[in-house]
Order: sequence, then C-alpha cells, then structure tokens
Amino acid sequence: MGIEIKTVGVIGAGQMGNGIAHVCSLAGFAVRLHDISEERIKAGLATINGNMARQVSKEAITDAERQAALAQIVPALTYDDLGGCDLVIEAATENEEVKRKIFTNLCPSLRPDAMIATNTSSISITRLAAATDRPERFIGIHFMNPVPVMQLVELIRGIATEDPTYESAKEFIGKLGKTVTVSEDFPAFIVNRILLPMINEAIYTLYEGVGSVDAIDTAMRLGANHPMGPLQLADFIGLDTCLSVMQVLHEGLADSKYRPCPLLVKYVEAGWLGRKAKRGFYDYRGEKPVPTR
Ligand code: NAD
Repeated sequence: MGIEIKTVGVIGAGQMGNGIAHVCSLAGFAVRLHDISEERIKAGLATINGNMARQVSKEAITDAERQAALAQIVPALTYDDLGGCDLVIEAATENEEVKRKIFTNLCPSLRPDAMIATNTSSISITRLAAATDRPERFIGIHFMNPVPVMQLVELIRGIATEDPTYESAKEFIGKLGKTVTVSEDFPAFIVNRILLPMINEAIYTLYEGVGSVDAIDTAMRLGANHPMGPLQLADFIGLDTCLSVMQVLHEGLADSKYRPCPLLVKYVEAGWLGRKAKRGFYDYRGEKPVPTR
C-alpha cells in the first residue's frame, strides 16, 4: 500500500509550480508552496489568485471554491516548512545541478515515508532519484502547461521506484481529475521527445530564412491545424526550458538530429526567454504580441 496523500509541497512557484499548487488546492489537498524568496512565492500566489478569478468569471468554479482553495495554500519559506508533506513535487528551474541540490537539502526535513516527485521535462528520473535518500519513493510526475487547463500527466518511474509509490502517484493524479500516460525513463519522455524536435525544427526554419515568425506559425496553425504555431508555443513553454530539453535529448541520445538550433541559444543568451520575460520570438510588451523577426 502506498501512502495516502493529503498535504502536497510544491518547490518552485513559477509557471508550473503555481499551476500545480492551483490544481492541488482546488482538489482539496493542503498545499505548501516554496521558492527561493518570499517575493517569488507571493508572485506565484498572485498568479494563482488571478487565474482562479478568471475561472470564476467563466463559471468553471464558484467564488467560494476559489476562496477555499486559496486558503489551502500556505507559503513555505524553508524546507522544514515542508516537513509535514506526504508528497513534495519539485518544479524548479530545468537544471540538473539546481534540482540535485534541492533534493539533497530537502530530504533531511521530510518524514521517511514521504514521497518526492519531479516535474522535470527531460532529465533522467533515475539520476535525480539517486540524489535523494529514497529512490524507491521517488517518481516523475510531469504536468503539462498550463496545468489547470491541460488534461495529461506523464508518469515516469525510475529504476528504483516501487509499486506503492507508482500507485499512490496514479491515485493522486486521478483525484486531480487528470489522465495518466506512462512513459519509460528515456530523455524527454513521450510528449517532449516528439514536440521539442518539432519546435527546434521550426527555429531552424526561421534561422535559415525559409520563413518569418509569422509565416512559420501561420503555416503550422492553418496548414497542420495546430492550435498554436510552434514559435508561439516555444515562447509559451519558455525558451530556456526548450533549450534545456534539446540539450538533454542531444546529450542523452547522442544523435546530431537533436542539435539545438544556434538561434535558440542566442535568444536564451539574450534573456529573451519568451512570454515570462515579455520577449522571445514575439515581443509581448505592447498590447499585441509583435514578431521579433
Ligand atoms: P519557471 O522559470 O517559470 O519557474 C521556475 C521557478 O523555480 C522560479 O520561480 C525559480 O525562482 C524557482 N527556483 C529556482 N531555483 C530554485 C530553488 N533552488 N529552490 C526553489 N525554487 C527555485 O519555470 P517552469 O516553466 O515553471 O518550469 C519548472 C519545471 O517544470 C522545469 O523542470 C520544467 O522543465 C518543468 N516543466 C515546464 C513546462 C513548461 O511548459 N514550461 C512543462 C512541463 C514541465
């Protein structure tokens, strides 16, 4: 039997972390939200508040549900504040060193039976599990962006993940009203293994001058019936995350077809990380997004 999850810790209050806290609190879980500073936690809470207010105006939830959910989320300034959690989901920056350090420092604060999950888009679950004191209670729970909207969650077992951990994680995702697909622990799992090379190819298409930002996105929206163009989607995901996933694919599978496009590298070096930085393949500082190329 796996552990019954009641209290969920979330590390990282960025795009994904605040989305995870959002859906967990609405599903009735107690949530502890942690980030590197109080300001970042507050910013995450403000985003959750705004997103829930939008759900109220669309009548997806009631205002009473919004207030009850918000009351479920408590800021956690230290790892000790996560000590009562049954499950801690790490959703910090996509960088292996950062994540390893988090796990090493987090573990001593947790109960021995607590589970740890990572929301990594691409890094080996087995390798991250090895940075903890409990690889058997460690699992990949990969939410999609934006978390409150997207139906899918990928579950990824590391080599040591035990059945009760997997069963508890599956039950937890069911309680969030989402659908699970299981992926083996290979670089970038299923969704990003397929999606990110397409985005990278769109950036090469731009880099080589085959088309403009607008031409490429219009082509894929109207020609392939994608709801969003690939460059728009890249900005939405975050260009640092896109680059990091391509690097993991390139290094992990040692195949030159996964070479990150130099233009993607340049945008990341410029700090043009997409929507979250207000500039990427589009400039979001004005009223309407304007292509940057
Ligand atoms: P983000 O940049 O919006 O947020 C990352 C947050 O982590 C920031 O608030 C940052 O302050 C915080 N952080 C950094 N170091 C930390 C530390 N040591 N302790 C606590 N917090 C720390 O990034 P994101 O898009 O939310 O991505 C987070 C994770 O989710 C990554 O692993 C990413 O690969 C994964 N993911 C992203 C997407 C996506 O579409 N963006 C989708 C699925 C999974």
